[in-house]
Amino acid sequence: MAGLTLRDVKKRYGETQVMHGVDLDIEHGEFVVFVGPSGCGKSTLLRMIAGLEEISDGTVAIGDTVVNDVAASKRGVAMVFQTYALYPHMTVYKNMAFGLKQAKTDPAEIDKRVKAAAEILQLGDYLDRSPRNLSGGQRQRVAIGRAIVRDPEVFLFDEPLSNLDAALRVQTRLEIARLHERLGNTMIYVTHDQVEAMTLADKIVVLRDGRIEQVGSPIELYERPQNAFVAQFIGSPKMNFFGPGDLAANAAAVLGKELPASQQVGLRPEHMVISDPANGVVEGKMELVENLGEYAMVHMITETGVEFIAKTEKPPAAKKGEVISFTIKPELAHYFDAETGLRS
Ligand code: ADP
Repeated sequence: MAGLTLRDVKKRYGETQVMHGVDLDIEHGEFVVFVGPSGCGKSTLLRMIAGLEEISDGTVAIGDTVVNDVAASKRGVAMVFQTYALYPHMTVYKNMAFGLKQAKTDPAEIDKRVKAAAEILQLGDYLDRSPRNLSGGQRQRVAIGRAIVRDPEVFLFDEPLSNLDAALRVQTRLEIARLHERLGNTMIYVTHDQVEAMTLADKIVVLRDGRIEQVGSPIELYERPQNAFVAQFIGSPKMNFFGPGDLAANAAAVLGKELPASQQVGLRPEHMVISDPANGVVEGKMELVENLGEYAMVHMITETGVEFIAKTEKPPAAKKGEVISFTIKPELAHYFDAETGLRS
């Protein structure tokens, strides 16, 4: 097992710079998730750690060794990709054994490792099958098995669940979490899905435009987002934002402060509660209700035209077009600078 240290890591493709100096410490055994919108540089960063992309500037160290000039195969990492790319003409066993065979590992050792990985991944009954007779989830498990048999210091996952349907995604996500618990290796996992990030990570790294926006535990990012971007990226539905002109008449009394023109207040949908107008922080016309049984999504619009969502236990009694007031516990309100987006 090993930790990783990234220092001022930059990436340029020709004249275009896509990573702008990333500093990051990953403890050994940690499950770290890189998350952010498409194009923010998650895969590029992972591929630089894997040795599949050259590092333009800065250093990547695995354990105590700077690996900038170390070949991918010698870094002690194993990568699992979105497309599992199994060899169709080989059995599950042979697919898992292939890399070790290429590396001329002793056949008895290969057998031991493949069977151990198959046991961990519950693939023992499928070792003689060809990949085309497996479900998508089983195929992705074989791909993970191929990584496990290499006994890497660090596992790298690049959106491994994206090709699976919704039910299998949830199941395979749980399997990856169990795998981490069982193996205890350092794992770095790329996704654009904040739910995967929240559920899997010890530590989340939120990226935007080739820069780190915030690093922290899932709960730190949820409870104390350092800027408006992280606040809206973590949590679903995303945090609602209001300026001083969008708030209800008594908002300052309820929140315990007057919102200055230079700030916005962020209210999470799940923290908003229907209230009487005197205690309202925001009010608006109800546009639509989605009743999901265990909760309702209430879609609203303020008089000033700001759309927001409240997640309530029960659907409101109001009808479409009627005005509803919402309140919130003051300690659950988040404040951000209107210009820089920084927490204030
Ligand atoms: P993500 O994985 O977050 O979706 P990527 O790491 O794939 O993002 O890409 C980060 C940025 O680098 C994007 O703007 C992308 O267009 C650019 N990029 C990726 N690969 C190349 C390449 N081979 N040449 C030029 N630009 C690239």
